[in-house]
Amino acid sequence: SSSVIRAVMERVLRLSHAELLKFVFGTCALQALDLVDQRSVTCLSSPSGRKAFQVTGGSGRLYTCFLSCHYCPCPAFTYTVLRRNQGLLCKHILAVYLCQAMAVTQQESVSDQQMSAVLSGTESP
Ligand SMILES: [Zn+2]
Repeated sequence: SSSVIRAVMERVLRLSHAELLKFVFGTCALQALDLVDQRSVTCLSSPSGRKAFQVTGGSGRLYTCFLSCHYCPCPAFTYTVLRRNQGLLCKHILAVYLCQAMAVTQQESVSDQQMSAVLSGTESP
């Protein structure tokens, strides 16, 4: 569950060794750290209190991730997490956790209408 992952992340971040991250989460950890470095994570929040995270991937594609339901639309998440159940996280979700923990997430306010569009996947704000 995400609370378990959060607890693990907090312990790992307290130790703050990139090598330990790599050991715990595999190669996606280093890619996630790159995304953190590039400030690729934006937290969208709407007046009604809904939140979604948008992560700009290495290819420039925008992925909308939801920590609440632990979901990312990227292929890596679909294959490793959903199908083979071999990975805990994809680099995008890990980057969101890292940005949140390090308080470097970009903040963006959107209207409820824009949030609905983001949540239904029809449009980027
Ligand atoms: Zn992903």
